[in-house]
Amino acid sequence: MSTQVQTTLRSPEAFALARRAVDEMERAGVWPTPLNFELWIHWLGDPDGALGQEMTRLLGDGTAFTDGTAEMLAAEYLPRGRLSEEIRDAGAVLNRELSTVSEAIAKAQKSQAAYGQTLAGASAHLESSAEPSALLGVVSTLSRATTQVQAENATLEKRLETSTKEVARLREHLEQVRRDAMTDALTNLANRKAFDEELLRACDEAEKKRQPMSLAVLDIDHFKRFNDTWGHQTGDQVLRYVASVIGRISKAPRVAARYGGEEFAIIFPSESAALVEAALNQIREEIGSRALRRRSTNDELGAVTISGGLAQRRPGETGSSLLDRADEALYASKRAGRNKITNGERLEEAA
Ligand code: C2E
Repeated sequence: MSTQVQTTLRSPEAFALARRAVDEMERAGVWPTPLNFELWIHWLGDPDGALGQEMTRLLGDGTAFTDGTAEMLAAEYLPRGRLSEEIRDAGAVLNRELSTVSEAIAKAQKSQAAYGQTLAGASAHLESSAEPSALLGVVSTLSRATTQVQAENATLEKRLETSTKEVARLREHLEQVRRDAMTDALTNLANRKAFDEELLRACDEAEKKRQPMSLAVLDIDHFKRFNDTWGHQTGDQVLRYVASVIGRISKAPRVAARYGGEEFAIIFPSESAALVEAALNQIREEIGSRALRRRSTNDELGAVTISGGLAQRRPGETGSSLLDRADEALYASKRAGRNKITNGERLEEAA
């Protein structure tokens, strides 16, 4: 949460801001879910921040604000705050575990030192006295000290075992948090943040290994019209459907992501555009081949189609330039009547 919003939420204006958020959600026709509430608080509390500006744009141009939109915005603008909270909590647990284990080790060291002193005392005693009764006393002191040290070692071992388990659990939890922060919650594909990182990495690798790499952007045709006709819930289902086909045909090392509202992108490391074109047409044909039904009413929705653009990276080219060229190819597909994949390389050869 931005510092500005945090400050406002602890000021006399906090309740007025919360009430305004509820009113504005009602005006925009969205449910006051916890996530929407968080987004609206950000928007009203910091309208000039990056999230505030994006919300103003989305709400201003009549874009449908679905649960999917909310998840997208949260993934794009809120995860760092959430992630850092999770990391802070995990850090606190780790600190607790470490200090408990350190205390247990310090206690064990003390016991070992005391045990050493007991042994030294016993040895001195034995040297100065050869009496059998003295021997018996020494043996019984040593036996008591040994039992005590063994008990303390067993406690330390148990404590270490518990800590190891707790640290492993924490590591798994953090890994899940990291995965969530990189995943689009509606479609389960990579989110834009993950995609941007992966694009950077893939471009670097292609440059180093001097190998080809391609990038595709795909967009659902007439999605806004579809949403307006059938509602946002059904719109979200269509996004899930399209994502599931894209995901199935884009297994690792390919990386498929939901890049924006109804826009998807796929990175094809070490594949040339000519090879990738066939895979994209397979995705396009499979998506368009299914007659969808509205789950709530069983109405026939018909098929949805997608358009796509493709570009192959040139030596030295950055991710954003590659993305621009793939976008140009996508718009060529839209201009040519949609339900089409355009290979940008061919577009440029023809020009
Ligand atoms: P989902 O509803 O969670 O379904 C997940 C998967 O379960 C589907 O993956 C499909 O393999 C299977 N499945 C669910 N319902 C049916 C069904 O009535 N008949 C058959 N044969 N299989 C079913 P799939 O096909 O990749 O779809 C992924 C997601 O896309 C679905 O998630 C749903 O959100 C959306 N979707 C797919 N087809 C339709 C449709 O006709 N109408 C609507 N509203 N959504 C659809």
